[in-house]
Amino acid sequence: MRENGVRALSIACLDCSHAADVNVDSYPGHLPVQSFARRMKCSECGSRNISLMPAWHTKREYASRT
Ligand SMILES: [Zn+2]
Repeated sequence: MRENGVRALSIACLDCSHAADVNVDSYPGHLPVQSFARRMKCSECGSRNISLMPAWHTKREYASRT
């Protein structure tokens, strides 16, 4: 993930639709994206029923293009 230039994950709660970007710079870069799903929970409702995907919009080149 990190070699793609993405340093954050987009997290979406499947229960309340709360969404957030979480910076993962402080985590080891080799962790697979899905391993974060077990560590994180929704900050709104506390649900662990969340989906994760790389926050592509935080990628630097991508942001400079838009
Ligand atoms: Zn939630």
